[in-house]
Amino acid sequence: MTARIIDGNALAARVRGEIADRAAALSARGVQPCLAVLLVGVDPASAVYVRNKVAACEKAGIRSLRFDYPQDVAQADVMAKLAELNADPSVHGILVQLPLPPQFDEAAVLEAISVAKDVDGFHAENVGRLSQNQEAFLPCTPHGVMKMLESVDVKLAGAEAVVIGRSNIVGKPMAMLLTNAGATVTVCHSRTRDLAFHTRRADILVAAVGKPRFVTGDMVKPGAVVIDVGINRLQNGPDEGKLCGDVDFASASEVAGAITPVPGGVGPMTITMLLENTVISADRAARAVGK
Ligand code: NAD
Repeated sequence: MTARIIDGNALAARVRGEIADRAAALSARGVQPCLAVLLVGVDPASAVYVRNKVAACEKAGIRSLRFDYPQDVAQADVMAKLAELNADPSVHGILVQLPLPPQFDEAAVLEAISVAKDVDGFHAENVGRLSQNQEAFLPCTPHGVMKMLESVDVKLAGAEAVVIGRSNIVGKPMAMLLTNAGATVTVCHSRTRDLAFHTRRADILVAAVGKPRFVTGDMVKPGAVVIDVGINRLQNGPDEGKLCGDVDFASASEVAGAITPVPGGVGPMTITMLLENTVISADRAARAVGK
């Protein structure tokens, strides 16, 4: 293996230490940061993500409130809880775990969260502000990727960046953040004609596809920085049940200059940025009341 490993666990631990210090300082000023998490239904992956978020809050000295709803809950019930949490000054961040069951209008739910408490950065106003390169709550996964690139001094201005995936929560905001940082960005997706043509030009390659080991070494430019956002559970073969990314680590790490592993790469940074957004929101709330 030739590539340098970008260690998400180590970076997350360092940043979470700083966040815990900020949370403690806020608590000492009488404003303990607080995140409210809403989970609808019984999707096992969502349940794990919510559990991890709540546990990470606790470790960082952030209060968390968790609300669980059955799969068939009416949207109006969730909306009523969001209105209550929006109005509660002791709550600084609100997150609705996605995906929501089919009876929900996801966009309407996300827009029912106060922009000032939208620590996932999915509200249309925060997305719009990001696209205009104005201050906004940044979506946690792409923001975590930017922190990882920064941690290894990747030069973004003028770099060729290729993002595979155009989802609202990863691909699109990732492309916007890289564009705002001065990279020349290509967004590839399921309709892209010759994917490898694009990926082989990339100085920075971000994979957010949701397909295990999809990006292979022959698709990577020698020396490129490869960021693997994917989290997939292998369904069969000798590694059945194990987590793997969207990048074939074994072959890509022979070609890349730097690469993130899965697990231990982008995943820990996603939750870290959620904690940071919650602390930022709490700090604003504290200042607003002169604390
Ligand atoms: P998604 O399913 O919403 O989007 C996948 C994207 O991949 C789509 O835009 C699609 O066009 C593209 N795609 C599919 N097949 C393709 C192909 N053959 N060629 C090129 N592009 C193709 O998924 P998502 O929510 O963006 O998540 C992507 C991956 O990242 C998943 O594995 C998910 O579990 C993971 N994820 C990880 C974190 C984290 O914290 N690390 C956070 C969110 C998502």
